[in-house]
Amino acid sequence: MKEAMRILVVAGHPADMFDHCGGTLFHHIEQGDSVVCISLTQGLRIHDEVVSDLFRHNLKDYTEEQIAEILVQRQKVKYQEVVSACALFGINDVRFLDYDDEILTVNPEMISKLARVIREVKPDLVITHWPYQANHFSNHHAVTGQLTLSAITAAGGVDFKDPEGGAWRIAQLAYMLCPADTTATCMSHVGKNAYINYYVDVTDVIDKKIRAIHMMKSQKYDIEGYAHKTTETWNGHYGGRVRLPYAEGFAIEYPEVGRTIPVSERRRRGAKAGEREVLERASGLQGMSVKLE
Ligand SMILES: [Zn+2]
Repeated sequence: MKEAMRILVVAGHPADMFDHCGGTLFHHIEQGDSVVCISLTQGLRIHDEVVSDLFRHNLKDYTEEQIAEILVQRQKVKYQEVVSACALFGINDVRFLDYDDEILTVNPEMISKLARVIREVKPDLVITHWPYQANHFSNHHAVTGQLTLSAITAAGGVDFKDPEGGAWRIAQLAYMLCPADTTATCMSHVGKNAYINYYVDVTDVIDKKIRAIHMMKSQKYDIEGYAHKTTETWNGHYGGRVRLPYAEGFAIEYPEVGRTIPVSERRRRGAKAGEREVLERASGLQGMSVKLE
């Protein structure tokens, strides 16, 4: 029997933990692998219903204490939503490093903290963001990817300040890709795109993804149509590239090693299938019929 894997997902913002790769994580958990998800930041400044809208024009109407109190409340709400959304995929170990998402740069403190998590979790596989997303320096996802790469290197050496800090080397690294990784939308993004070299068929879990996204009310993801639209234009688009209704896309960092060349059953079946069958399967719009409350 195959030995179970330990997987660590390092996300820039809380909801990234499941909207980038939740379907894939569900499949891993289903086959007995263990998953730990960690978000580096609170993600409060970008999408939060209250923080981004209320404070944007009226910050002077609030005292420092009131602001601090509102931030604590909003963090609690967001974290609770993410924990509930992750539970839909069977992910129960969800962690937050609680950094403010105002300025995110590659820095020794965050690298060391993350390296400690890697030494503790001892993942075989780490999943994180593409380190060149957008212009790759002002982008939270890209910086998270860069921090993770540095933390992987640091964790590969002994931490002398931590008595439990033995070195841990990961076996594989995968970048969880989103449309901003695979399409340039501004001039400074040109030339930074990732190439999806591995697709995971998530058609069977697309209802969970839509429901999980919709659960993020604190960042307005419950706006009518949003969860369906995001899923169609992200997982539906990636699926279309490999003739599947819905897929999650990854770039695998290290070349795999074996005695022979693997060709998946899906590829072999697809090659033998009739043109109509292939198109019919690819045209699946199962996500659109998922009912939301
Ligand atoms: Zn994000």
